[in-house]
Amino acid sequence: MKEALIFDLSREGRRGIRFGAPDLPSRPVRQLIPERFMRSEPVDLPELPESEVVRHFIRLSNFNYHVDKNMYPLGSCTMKYNPKINDCTADLQGFTSMHPLQPESTAQGSLRLMYELSGMLGEIAGMAAVCLQPAAGAHGELTGILLIKKYHESSGSKRDKLLVGDSAHGTNPASAAIANYEIVSVKSNAEGRTDIEDLKTKLTSDVAALMLTNPNTLGLFEKDILAIEKLVHDNGSLLYMDGANMNALMGITRPGDMGFDIVHYNLHKTFSAPHGGGGPGSGPVGVCEKLVPFLPVPVIEKNEANGTAHYTLNMDKPESIGRMMNFYGNFAVLVRAYTYIRMLGTEGVRRVSENAVINANYLLSRLLDKFELPYPKPVMHEFCISGDRQKKQHNVRTLDMAKRLLDYGFHAPTIYFPLIVSEALMIEPTETETIETLDAFADALLEIADEAENSPELVLNAPVETPVKRLDEAQASRQLNVCFFGC
Ligand SMILES: *Cc1c(COP(=O)(O)O)cnc(C)c1O
Repeated sequence: MKEALIFDLSREGRRGIRFGAPDLPSRPVRQLIPERFMRSEPVDLPELPESEVVRHFIRLSNFNYHVDKNMYPLGSCTMKYNPKINDCTADLQGFTSMHPLQPESTAQGSLRLMYELSGMLGEIAGMAAVCLQPAAGAHGELTGILLIKKYHESSGSKRDKLLVGDSAHGTNPASAAIANYEIVSVKSNAEGRTDIEDLKTKLTSDVAALMLTNPNTLGLFEKDILAIEKLVHDNGSLLYMDGANMNALMGITRPGDMGFDIVHYNLHKTFSAPHGGGGPGSGPVGVCEKLVPFLPVPVIEKNEANGTAHYTLNMDKPESIGRMMNFYGNFAVLVRAYTYIRMLGTEGVRRVSENAVINANYLLSRLLDKFELPYPKPVMHEFCISGDRQKKQHNVRTLDMAKRLLDYGFHAPTIYFPLIVSEALMIEPTETETIETLDAFADALLEIADEAENSPELVLNAPVETPVKRLDEAQASRQLNVCFFGC
């Protein structure tokens, strides 16, 4: 892996573009900008021809793995294909030139897009209203939990516990802790679903809500959701759905119809905005009727007068929990999600979920000969197998097999999550993957299982084909250094 810094590739006098002489005299500009803001020396920019700039960045991109290169089977993360048309619409000048402080009357198109997106998300999940502000799933969870807090406070009910399932994403207890709740873990049963008997013992009068993920992180649908809903509501508690797995349900069933009071969506998962690399996300929150007054402000409203619609931002909501974000959220992500849903239409949205489920079940069926399945089939959009057999019989761990997958040209799946599965490999194939790609991935994993049996050193020393070999991951997170090559 060798690539010089772009500054080292620079040679004095080389140019990508030559500008003509400016046709404005420099004096008026100097008068406009106060002297103390003016540069005294030219900025130190690398000097290269355009072709060298492009090649430099293409070489760097080849060191990396990305969704345009091959399948990205990260369970829980829902690594969608990101249709290129999303970027075309997000790049429309009418959107990119917007300023959040410009007058409402000049922002009608953007307000309309947000208003309509809220409506479509509300319809998909069966919720009365949706707030687009939160910047990620975890931020949506925090918003939802603050709504729960406000709801109980407004009726004078003191409740300081939140129940969270033991297969939940780590953000669930983290968000609950940030909002100052005591977290009580609810066990999974032998089927990998909520243990109702355990839930009953934990559902005390001080429980504010139950946070459930449906389908859960094992890819299993909560079959007893109606019984759970009754228990929770009879206790005066609220029911929160972590909707990160909505890509298994869309157009088929709705959290609102199952009795959930709050749900968060991950637009950067289910609705195809790019993610990974920490890029902007979006975690809208949908609520049932009785929680609508508490939603964050401003609320986007549509008023109709003389047959024309006018969109406004209403700050006058006395019961609101306040703002969760500056301005209105990550707008460019909202444009992408809006484009995606409009492109698919009602039928297409349903097909996304159907294909996600069939792809996951197909892939799982191909892997069962070699890998243990800790909880019974069928699954929905993702599944979790275990590398226990390989560890016990050949001393090859899931981490080793994940590293070996990189040599086969695939990104590794999520590993060691959820915590209730030992040596977990959590796999979520994107719904747009073809059967040929799914087969190639299954073949690679099956071959790696053979290698673990017959030539384990190959797997233990992997990866060998990647630009960098096995990294010390613990050190990477403890001594964070984001400079290039340890500079
Ligand atoms: C991704 C995910 C989250 C958190 O979402 P972020 O946008 O990463 O904050 C929560 N729950 C589940 C099940 C997830 O997959």
